[in-house]
Order: sequence, then structure tokens, then C-alpha cells
Amino acid sequence: MKHLPAFLNTPARLVITIALIVLLVEFFIMLMISGLSGGPPVGIWDFLDPVLLTTLVAPVLYILIFRPMRNQQAELERQLLESRRNEQLAALIEAIPDAVFLKDGEGRWLLINESAKQLFQLHNLPWEGKTEMELAVLQPAFRAAHERCLASDEKAWQAGKLRVEEESLAGAGDQATVIEARKMPMFGKDGRRKGLAIIGRDITERKLTEQKIHRLAFYDALTLLPNRHLLLDRLQQAMGVSQRSGQHGALLLLDLDHFKTINDTQGHALGDLLLIEVAQRLQACVREADSVARLGGDEFVVMLEELGSQPDQASTAAQRVAEKICQELSQPYALKEHPCHTTPSIGISLFRGHLESAQDVLQHADVAMYQAKAAGRNAIRFFDPRMQTVLDTRVALETDLRQALVKQQFQLYYQIQVDRQRRPVGAEGLLRWQHPNQGLVFPAQFIAQAEDTGLIVPIGLWVLQTACAQLKAWQKDALTRDLTLAVNVSAKQFHQDDFVAQVQRALLDSGAEASLLKLELTESMVLENVEDTIRKMHELKRLGVSFSMDDFGTGYSSLQYLKRLPLDQIKIDQSFVRDITNDPNDAAIVQTIIAMTQALGLKVIAEGVETEAQRDFLLRHGCQAFQGYLFARPVPIGEFESLLGKPL
Ligand code: C2E
Ligand code: MG
Ligand code: MG
Repeated sequence: MKHLPAFLNTPARLVITIALIVLLVEFFIMLMISGLSGGPPVGIWDFLDPVLLTTLVAPVLYILIFRPMRNQQAELERQLLESRRNEQLAALIEAIPDAVFLKDGEGRWLLINESAKQLFQLHNLPWEGKTEMELAVLQPAFRAAHERCLASDEKAWQAGKLRVEEESLAGAGDQATVIEARKMPMFGKDGRRKGLAIIGRDITERKLTEQKIHRLAFYDALTLLPNRHLLLDRLQQAMGVSQRSGQHGALLLLDLDHFKTINDTQGHALGDLLLIEVAQRLQACVREADSVARLGGDEFVVMLEELGSQPDQASTAAQRVAEKICQELSQPYALKEHPCHTTPSIGISLFRGHLESAQDVLQHADVAMYQAKAAGRNAIRFFDPRMQTVLDTRVALETDLRQALVKQQFQLYYQIQVDRQRRPVGAEGLLRWQHPNQGLVFPAQFIAQAEDTGLIVPIGLWVLQTACAQLKAWQKDALTRDLTLAVNVSAKQFHQDDFVAQVQRALLDSGAEASLLKLELTESMVLENVEDTIRKMHELKRLGVSFSMDDFGTGYSSLQYLKRLPLDQIKIDQSFVRDITNDPNDAAIVQTIIAMTQALGLKVIAEGVETEAQRDFLLRHGCQAFQGYLFARPVPIGEFESLLGKPL
């Protein structure tokens, strides 16, 4: 009984059942009527009227004839729909920009789209039904690719689920095409391999871009050497290896001597060529396992490994390589026919295991390199732990330097400048730092750091403002009214966009007489950007300010530039003055400089004059002004002013 609703759920069955019930009811009614009336017995034809008959026959006919017909038609329609869907699916597969492959359970190619044909160059090949190995015979150029594909298909079958793998299509041309293949295995109900659907995407461009990004991130674009990032990475690894082997390694940090001058005078293009050549020579000096990297600018690093377990043995080996490098890099260079010469200063730091961090090892090599520079360049120095103290002081000084201006710890000292009759004509303002713990700190200890950190800009401005205020104060006294005051200007400060405006502001704010302010420039500073320098110098000259070329003779003294610069004075460097009386070369240089200034119509002053003999020599050869300990050391303003009335 409970199955009845299910049975009656089609119209045909419902109609037949109702008809049968009606028939039975009618039959019993007839039977009862004939029994009651005593009439003849009821025959089937008595109640089987045409309506009832139709009601009975029609569903039977429907079930036996029409329904199968309708089902057949539905099946036909379904097949039509499916074939249309297949057509659309085929069109869709064809339109997919990725390569699509369908293989059967035995790995035979059943279907591929246009992109796949292009990728494997299959347009004129009978690929249908072929396996990878059969195709490899037809396409020898792709043999390796087909073999790899087969192996990776097998991995997908083994995995039993979607598998993504990168495959190389090497052999298709010069540039290997890289494919990202997504392979989906399909299995029958019995677990047998039924088919493999593959979508292959050409990711060659993406791979190239990734490689490029990797190169940019880890390699130096100019020399193609590893950069600092990669070097530190390799150093970490080398330290790990050294930890296990117990062997020492060494880091050689080298810096080219006077590279900046070469770059500034010969041009950056030639400077670049020099760096490339240096990189090549360095690579030739070391074993294949050793690393050469460029940290930036003219700083290179060579990392040596497996130098032995004894420190002495390791330092000897490192020293030997460093000497070879020195020798190789000192050979003349012919860059685009331009002869060029340079030498390196090398700092060496040994390492073993993880006793120090990679950063520390690099910093130690850096400290040692500065020692090599201080030792007169073209030298090799090992890091000595005692240097660490110097390093720590340097780091501490830098931290303090940031506060020095705010805490008003700077002071301007004044060193007198005199004429031929020893009469005061002016002064040079020299910066001093009154450090709370270390006492008086001299510029040599902090100017370079101030330049590196950019602090020199606000510090230089303070010097300028202090000097202008002093000039203004001197106006009040006849003794000081005509004194000039020279201030040193650093390259970073001078090359600031608003440097001219800074000077103008300092003059206006103080009310100082511009013609008494002298700016001391250096040759290297001028050469950094000659055009910008000349333009700014002219603008400043229009304000009334004058210029002196400081440390003359130590840089690249190009007469070409000298002629174009609106200078007023040349300051002979103290290194020539020092030996003027006993070194004929220095004596000759000084004489030449003086003669040259006369020819160019410039004034001349000698700095570092310590003895009467030096003064006499300079006087005899026409020097007009003098500055040095012979007359007075740089002193605070009070002491300076008290000097003025006394004979010097
Ligand atoms: P500089 O401009 O060539 O200054 C001359 C240096 O020689 C000064 O050293 C001075 O004290 C020293 N000196 C003067 N007479 C003699 C002498 O007879 N014998 C010897 N042996 N030395 C003498 P200081 O004051 O230590 O300054 C060193 C350098 O620091 C300066 O060289 C200059 O380049 C830089 N400097 C000083 N003050 C400033 C500043 O305010 N700004 C910038 N940017 N640099 C400054
Ligand atoms: Mg100076
Ligand atoms: Mg000087």
C-alpha cells in the first residue's frame, strides 16, 4: 500500500487505475441491480461502454507506443545537444591561449588545440593516437622534451590528482621555452587509467622577468658581479661551511685609490670602463670557488675560503692573494685608448665559523681598509682587534655628532693670516667640536662623517652664519674692520641647490660686508660638477663674496678649469710648504704655483708656515700672504682678537 503513491506518479498509470476502479464499481453496481431486479446475469459488454473503453485503451496505447517514441525523440534531442556542446567545448578548447592536450590511459594523444600545435610545431604531423615516444621519433628536435613530458605524466598518474610542474622545451630554438604544465589524471570506476588532461602555459617571459628581477636584486648592473646583498648571503654560507670544516676564510675589501679623481676628470663613462676592467682582473686573480663582489662605487670585496685551520697559515694565504691583486690592479689600463693608472688599498678580515656576524666581518675589513688608506694607500692591512676601539669611538662619535649642533657644542676657531710685513689681513675660521667627554675634537675626526651623513649641510650653515656675525661685529672696531674671514665649504654643502641663497641669507641676516667673506673651495669639489660650480661662483661673486682655492696642488690641478673659475686667491697646500727648504721638488712646485698665480692675476697665500726659513723662501719667491703656526695657531675669538695688537 505504501508503494501506491509512487506507482501513481505518472498520468498514464493514474488514468488506468481510475478507469479500472470505475470499471469495477460499475460492474458491482450492475451486478447488484440485476440481482435485485432478477434480470438476466450481467455480461462484460453490458458495462463496457466506449467511453470507458477509450479510457482504458488510451493509456495502454500511450505506454506501449507513444512513450517509447517520445523517449526516442528525447534521446535524439539529448544527443544533438551533446554534440552541440562538444562542438562548443572543442571551440572553447581551441580558443584557449594555453596548450591543451588530452591523452588516453595509455598516453596516446587524443586531442590538442591550436596553441599546443604551435608549441610543439605539430601542424604537419600525424599526431593523433601517437604516444610521446612515437612523437619523439617524428620530432627528433623535441626528443628530450617528449621524454621529460612522459616522465612528468607518470608522476601525475602516480600522484593521482592535479599536478603542476615546470617543463623546459629546450630544443625548440635558441631560447628554451618554459612551460607550466597542469596535469589532471582521470581514472575509471575500476581504478584503471582513463585519461590525462594537460594544460601547458608558456611562462618563458615570466621566467625571464623573474631572472631579471633576481639579477637586479643580487647583482651589480655594471660589472655583473654579486652585490652587497648576495655577498652577505654567501658570507653567511661560507661561515657555516667554515664552522663545520674548522677552516679559516678571509674577506678582502678593496677600494681604488683616487678613483673619484679619475671619475671626475676623465668622465664617468671612462670610470665605468675602469670598474669593469678591475672586476675582470679581480676574477682572474682568484680561484673559481672564491667570490668577487662589488659593494658600490669603487669598493670591491673578495671572499676567500678554505685557507687552512691555523690563523697564521690563513693570513699568509690571504696576504698572498692580496699582493697578487695589488700587482694586477696596478698594471696600466688602456681604456678606449686612454692610458690610466690606479692602485688599490686592501683591508683584510679573517673569519672562522660564526664567531662574528657577517656584517661584523665586513665592517672589520672596512676598518682595515681605512688603515691601508691612512698608511698612504696602495697598501694591505689586516684587521686588528685593537682597531675595534677606534671603530667603537667612531660609531659613538657619529651618534654624538647628530646632537652636537642642537647642544651648541661647535665652536669656530680663528687662525690669523698676515701679509708680507706680518700685518694681519684676515683669518680662516676653523671648526672645533667641544665634546662633553672627549674634549676638543678636531675636524679630521668628524668632517668626513659629517659629510657621509649629510650633517655637514646644517653644520656648514652654522659656520657661515657664525662667520658672518663675526664680520659684522668686527665692523665696530678700526682694528678689525678690514679683516677678511675665510670659511671652508664642503662639497655637499656647495652643491646644495640653495647654497647661493643660504650665503645671501647669512649676509643679509647678519648685515656683514660681503666683500670681506671668503669661501674656500677645494679642487675635487669644483671638479664634481664644473658647470654648476662656475654658475654658483658667478652668482656669489655678484653678491660681492670672494673665493680661495684651498689645498692647491693636492688635487687634479687642471689649468683648463682654473682659467674658467672666477677665483681670487690660491692657497698653497701645507704639504708643499713643509719641505720647501729641503726638498727641491717641493721648492720647484711652490715657485711654479706662485708664478702661475701671477700669470693668471690671482692672489696667493701659503698655509702651514711654521718656520722663518719657510717664510723667507716664500717671501723671496713673491708670496703675498701667510698662514701658519709661525704667526699663530687657530684660537677662540677672544684670544684671536688679543693677538691683533701684538707683533707677530
Ligand atoms: P684646511 O682648510 O686646509 O685648514 C688648514 C689646517 O691646517 C687646519 O687644520 C689648521 O689648524 C692646520 N694648520 C694651520 N697652520 C698650520 C701649521 O703651521 N702647521 C700645521 N701642521 N698645520 C697647520 P684643522 O683646523 O684641523 O682643519 C683641518 C681641515 O678640516 C681643514 O683644512 C678643512 O679642510 C677642514 N675644516 C675645518 N673647518 C671646517 C669647516 O668649517 N667646514 C668644512 N667643510 N671643513 C672644515
Ligand atoms: Mg681651509
Ligand atoms: Mg688647506
